Amino acid sequence: MLPYQTIHEAALALGRNLTFAETVWFNYSARKSDYILYCHNILFLFLIFSLVPIPLVFIELMRIAGFDRYKIQPKVRLSFPEMLRCYTDVMRMFFLVVGPLQLVSFPSVKMIGIRTGLPLPSGWEMLSQLLVYFVVEDYTNYWIHRFLHNKWGYEKIHRVHHEYAAPIGFAAPYAHWAEILILGIPSFLGPAMAPGHMITFWSWIALRQIEAIETHSGYDFPWSLTKYIPFYGGAEYHDYHHYVGGQSQSNFASVFTYCDYIYGTDKGFRYQKKILKKLKEEMESSDRQNGGSYPISSQSNKSD
Ligand SMILES: [Zn+2]
Ligand SMILES: [Zn+2]
Repeated sequence: MLPYQTIHEAALALGRNLTFAETVWFNYSARKSDYILYCHNILFLFLIFSLVPIPLVFIELMRIAGFDRYKIQPKVRLSFPEMLRCYTDVMRMFFLVVGPLQLVSFPSVKMIGIRTGLPLPSGWEMLSQLLVYFVVEDYTNYWIHRFLHNKWGYEKIHRVHHEYAAPIGFAAPYAHWAEILILGIPSFLGPAMAPGHMITFWSWIALRQIEAIETHSGYDFPWSLTKYIPFYGGAEYHDYHHYVGGQSQSNFASVFTYCDYIYGTDKGFRYQKKILKKLKEEMESSDRQNGGSYPISSQSNKSD
């Protein structure tokens, strides 16, 4: 809720006219409590979990040849009922855990100092804070995820997320309720360290989930804009972690690749990439000599 009754009052308090974005924000938020603004995250998460994976469902079901070649585990195909079951499981957890967690975590958001007023943050401020949030979450998530791969953590909690050895977009938030609660901590750490505006906080929650859906998509699209982000893991990187499963000691990081590189937990993945590259080169050279073609599965060798 903004402490001004009118746009004129807000302009007087700021000592300047409101920008277009600030006017839109004033009109939208002036009469809404901070709690209601914070709870918008529930709606955003519902829409993201429900809508963002839909194009991937069509790609999976229609089996368009142009897209098929980018499927990371081409031998694994999920039917529509299987994908629907994943979505309904995610929604059950959403209404039982994710939503209620948002409803009760408002005091912590107040405590860390997420603001809702004017002026709005600059693009630069938002970008730098989002970068901090991603790096902090990635680092913390790496260690929690690595811990969850011990015998107890895996069998009691993390096994649920690994039920999809070939992940799909809907499976990004598919996890045990305890994992959802535990991984809420890394998501809050960045905003606690560099608190910003509610709009930045909304953007953070939304972008992190969209990123998770991309890394669980099961497709490695060469035109994806995320390929231009330095040290970004992407779908192929995390898919390998699911492919290997419970025994995996590789690719624990959620967003970037540097943690796995620094702590030596990307060796299995790098070894497999090297082997597959060599295999592909040998097949292509044999193909040229024979004038035929050989299909190649990008996941033909478990090495981790
Ligand atoms: Zn895992
Ligand atoms: Zn995963």
